Amino acid sequence: MKKIVTAVLALFILCSQAGAQTPKYVFYFIGDGMGLSQAYAAKAFYGDVNFMNFPVQGFISTVSANSLVTDSSAAGTALATGVKIKNSALGMDPDGNSPRTIAEFAKSKGYGVGVATSVGVNHATPASFYGHVPNRNLYDQLADQLIDSRMDFAAGSTFLTGKGSKPQMFIDKAREKGIEVFFGKDEYKTVKGKRVIYLSSNPAQQALSYAIDRRNGETKLADFTEGAIDYLYSNFRKGFFLMVEGGKIDYACHANDAAACVHEVADLAESVQLALNFYKQHPNETLIIVTADHETGGFTMGAGAYELHPDFLASQKVSKDVLSAKIAALRMTKKDDVSWNDIKNLLNRELGLWGTIPVNKIQEKVFTQLYKDLILDNSGAVDENLYSKNDLLTKAAIDYVNRTAMTTFAFGSHSGIPVPVYVIGAKSSNFKDCHDNTDIPKTILSVTGWGR
Ligand SMILES: [Zn+2]
Repeated sequence: MKKIVTAVLALFILCSQAGAQTPKYVFYFIGDGMGLSQAYAAKAFYGDVNFMNFPVQGFISTVSANSLVTDSSAAGTALATGVKIKNSALGMDPDGNSPRTIAEFAKSKGYGVGVATSVGVNHATPASFYGHVPNRNLYDQLADQLIDSRMDFAAGSTFLTGKGSKPQMFIDKAREKGIEVFFGKDEYKTVKGKRVIYLSSNPAQQALSYAIDRRNGETKLADFTEGAIDYLYSNFRKGFFLMVEGGKIDYACHANDAAACVHEVADLAESVQLALNFYKQHPNETLIIVTADHETGGFTMGAGAYELHPDFLASQKVSKDVLSAKIAALRMTKKDDVSWNDIKNLLNRELGLWGTIPVNKIQEKVFTQLYKDLILDNSGAVDENLYSKNDLLTKAAIDYVNRTAMTTFAFGSHSGIPVPVYVIGAKSSNFKDCHDNTDIPKTILSVTGWGR
């Protein structure tokens, strides 16, 4: 208890010290798809989520230039430039104009600039800070633009590419231009005086593994964040701007996987903690903003009851994608001999069904029918979302975990509701008047002076 009181007191002292000075170090965290429900579900699950204690909190609208429901590139561009554009464009308005990003403004004033993400280094959110293309799927162009940009540090799972291109082409290109390219934490070291691209130890992955599935030693977002802070602080004493994206909150919510989602929010909070540790060393000069580009899934909690069951979510040990991969692997090894008992054991082990989570007879009948369809009748029916495909038994099992945990998703796409923003540190109170996503970068430019 004493420890907690001291920690809270220390936070208050930090808060009261903050405000007057111009921020030198700006951290911008974007939870992709992280609405209020995603953040609150993580809080219900873990008991605490660090950024939800920040002193300045509010909501921002996320509408794009042509839709109430934004996509990640229009939202990323709004958060990076303060300009609304149409969905699927990135850093470019319909007339082909490219608004400057806050990273570009910071760089022009001599600050270090970096981006880090748990998905591809040229996926929509990070690319919004250095890229300008008519369509977000022009991955080869975005990879080239990153290499040719003035971004000092960029980290992500890999280079996403167009048809016929390979990540290695862009790794080679980056090295030819004198950029240091590292793969994973074992290889990474902070260098001085050179630009850096930091990829996963397994760059064949389109995105880092879900936090819920991650094994020891696999690259994680906090590795990238730690590398970014080390690099930017040691190279740019004038100050720096760092954007960190929790990219897979969105993936989990597109897949309607509540347990994977709360683990991803905590994964982002782990990176926020590194910024908070830095803030404690530089309390008068550090500004930390945590927000989201949009909400995904129409996610809510308390569905059908007054109580959540975070323990039910805790009994889920793998993501929906890994569960369907495990069922597929079982079918590969046992061919047609996969019994109902094999499936039941798997669902028990990986999701806690018939264990922590009770399964009544009616629900068991639903599962056995789906088992028969999938395995005995070899039905190829799949449930497809933006980032993955799963068999229908997997879908039903994960939906059941969600439902019994009293969480639910309305759909598998983005929603148009406002998202939260949490701010701490130097000039944090200036963010009280941010009500739209475009207000955040404008306020960053005004409090730092980078826009002048
Ligand atoms: Zn998004």
